[in-house]
Amino acid sequence: MQTKAYAAQSATTPLAPHTIDRRAPGPKDVAIEILFCGVCHSDLHTVRGEWQGTMYPCVPGHEIVGKVMAVGKEVSHFRPGQIVGVGVMVDSCRTCAQCREGLEQYCDGPVGFTGTYNGSAGGGTNTYGGYSTSITVDEHFVLSIDHAEKDLAAVAPLLCAGITTWSPLRHWDAGPGKKVGIVGIGGLGHVGVKLSHALGAHTVAFTTSPDKVADAKTLGADEVVVSRDEAQMKQHLNSFDMILDTVSAPHNLDAFTALLKRDGTLVLVGAPPTPHPSPAVYLLTARRRAIAGSMIGGIAETQEMLNFCAKHGITSDIEMIKMQDIEKAYARMLKSDVKYRFVIDMASLKE
Ligand code: NAP
Ligand code: ZN
Ligand code: ZN
Repeated sequence: MQTKAYAAQSATTPLAPHTIDRRAPGPKDVAIEILFCGVCHSDLHTVRGEWQGTMYPCVPGHEIVGKVMAVGKEVSHFRPGQIVGVGVMVDSCRTCAQCREGLEQYCDGPVGFTGTYNGSAGGGTNTYGGYSTSITVDEHFVLSIDHAEKDLAAVAPLLCAGITTWSPLRHWDAGPGKKVGIVGIGGLGHVGVKLSHALGAHTVAFTTSPDKVADAKTLGADEVVVSRDEAQMKQHLNSFDMILDTVSAPHNLDAFTALLKRDGTLVLVGAPPTPHPSPAVYLLTARRRAIAGSMIGGIAETQEMLNFCAKHGITSDIEMIKMQDIEKAYARMLKSDVKYRFVIDMASLKE
């Protein structure tokens, strides 16, 4: 199936129109017309070759909301016309211990999980993501969406930004009686603030952008700290159960580990292209603090997050763009100038 898309042909070429081939749905496949696709910072890291191993042409996009066009004959959970989502994964081995536990993102199979883009599609080809008008995905990796139709564009970012913050918040028990920090109020961070607040944790937002302070309170933060202000940081020494760091660039982690209480954990989800400065060991030993990492979330917990968000009226705050404006959106994302996630209206690619 010939499908319109936007692709980068190399790390230094801007995204431009490109045609890709989507497979006809096999017995377990769902063919989806893409309505909206969020713009994750990982898209930018990948197309620009900031991480190792980008395969070109590269069609990014893993925050997909669309409408089912057709289903294979063994598909049981979806029917044509249904609104569905696709996130960061489109396949995994399904048999290893991680997959059996529903944690497909940590698949132990030979290639790990298959990314929605830049994953192996077999035969030396790579998978193509959501900056396109349609996608075909095995039903195991398709999510149901219960939000109202008017909210669908704002639901798209939940498929990556939502689950990437939800999974660690749940794993480290964010909830009543816990003090949780969210570092970086971008796409991931602003959803993280909403989720932490909705889970009942005392939520503190950390930002380098003083102009985001008022917004962060509206998003649900109980307190907001401008992280470059040492006096403000000092007021929170030794007090956090958990701090979730979503920052996309290398930075000083010690400033945040010092804010953890005994046995507190700094969880890194941001994935900068180059390492953070090495953290000071004494800050960890002094209070048995930990630094951990977390990657997206499994399919079952993604569905749990989507259901929670539908129930609590949670969506992303978005700026809708046309596909043709993607490079301008990337430039603004690099300046932390997005309130708070760009979402591509895929109708613009069909024009
Ligand atoms: P984003 O929208 O660009 O947000 C990143 C935020 O980090 C910015 O808004 C800014 O917040 C802060 N920031 C940026 N540069 C900074 C710097 N030099 N120093 C301090 N703070 C800085 O990006 P995103 O889409 O949320 O993604 C964030 C990171 O998570 C990316 O590296 C992405 O690849 C990664 N990611 C990881 C996973 C995973 O599974 N682990 C999943 C998705 C994305 P303030 O203006 O508030 O300071
Ligand atoms: Zn992402
Ligand atoms: Zn597996």
